[in-house]
Amino acid sequence: MPSEMNPWSSSQTIDVDRLFAEFGIEPIGEVTQRLPEVPSFMRRGIVVGHRDYHLIADAIRNRTPFHVLTGFMPSGLPHLGHLMVMKEVVWHVQQGGNGYVAIADREAHAVRGISWEKCREYGKEYLKALYALGFKGTTYYQSKNERLKDLAFEASTKVNFSEMAAIYGFGPETSLSHAMSVVTQVADILYPQLDAGPAPTIVPVGLDQDPHIRLTRDVAYKLRMFTVEDRGDHISVRSKNAPDEALEAVHRAFPGSKKYGGHVDLVGLPMSQVEDAVRKIEIAHGGFGFYLPSSTYHIFMPGLQGGKMSSSVPESLIGYYESDKSLKKKVMAALTGGRMTLEEQKRLGGEPDACSVYLLNLFHMLEDDIELADLRRRCESGELTCGQCKKETLERVQAFLAELRDKMDSVEHLAEEV
Ligand code: SF4
Repeated sequence: MPSEMNPWSSSQTIDVDRLFAEFGIEPIGEVTQRLPEVPSFMRRGIVVGHRDYHLIADAIRNRTPFHVLTGFMPSGLPHLGHLMVMKEVVWHVQQGGNGYVAIADREAHAVRGISWEKCREYGKEYLKALYALGFKGTTYYQSKNERLKDLAFEASTKVNFSEMAAIYGFGPETSLSHAMSVVTQVADILYPQLDAGPAPTIVPVGLDQDPHIRLTRDVAYKLRMFTVEDRGDHISVRSKNAPDEALEAVHRAFPGSKKYGGHVDLVGLPMSQVEDAVRKIEIAHGGFGFYLPSSTYHIFMPGLQGGKMSSSVPESLIGYYESDKSLKKKVMAALTGGRMTLEEQKRLGGEPDACSVYLLNLFHMLEDDIELADLRRRCESGELTCGQCKKETLERVQAFLAELRDKMDSVEHLAEEV
């Protein structure tokens, strides 16, 4: 699924449509109308889909509590391929979200064999970058968070090996630590609700991360004691695995309700009020009252040589600590949507949607929509040569990285404290 995603090709639309159809991800378009302000990553088609984002959009608009969470696996130094999700988290914090960032050191250790010392070293760089971009909130290393580990254990009671095999392709050779790192990740996504109370939670991810979201939503559902259903003429609160006292407490909480074997029916109250009260009763009886986490899905910024920007293709990525010399070499050698000859370029124009340099600008280097539209126009009209375009982009990246590194230095103490 993710490796088929190609932000350059027009066939991406078809792939995304298939993904939506098969897995029930909704296109992002309509739900953004509920937002007071639509961020550039949604306006520009970078975030393409969502699950239950209406809960988050409504919380932003109505200024009610919500959480935003992401995690980073510290298996190397951060690069521009990580920047989108960082910006999405920071934007949601700025919209009132309660921010959480997990450094997935257990996963890096279990899956990639990274030493704990290196996990700490790399993890600090991710945190510095986040704080430099304006993040505020809670950050932690998985290996140091005891409540998270307890939650992961609880989550593991709801997942079996055949599910792991179906979702992740786990087989007899898969180490137990790998399976444990998966349930730890499930716990990461639910952790804000354990730590700060149940509330809608947004997890911005790349399209390839949807299996984690689906698994976590499934676990969150299974960990609930009750379901609350709108039956048209009444609301029914049904016990899934609630103790008798909890069902009795639901009955008492709603005067006039009727209690049957495993459910309580009531009329005359809004769903949201009933759901809130039932969540409180669950927590009072040792449950969690989780909301199923919401998610947004972004496409990948392509690497400078095509494919995903990833540590395994060094010439394709731009690190936050890239030297000027190396940066220049990489940007000037980047794959473009330019024509074979200058004459053709002038006559036919370039193809920005097939160009890693254009997409670098679209994702991160040109904040202003008017400037981005102008770049597109100059490219398509043949007015701009790829050489000139690369030089202009190089200057933007240099300025961006210089500023980011300065800010990272100034917030180092915050990352040290985690
Ligand atoms: Fe890409 Fe710029 Fe060349 Fe257009 S002019 S194809 S945007 S490098």
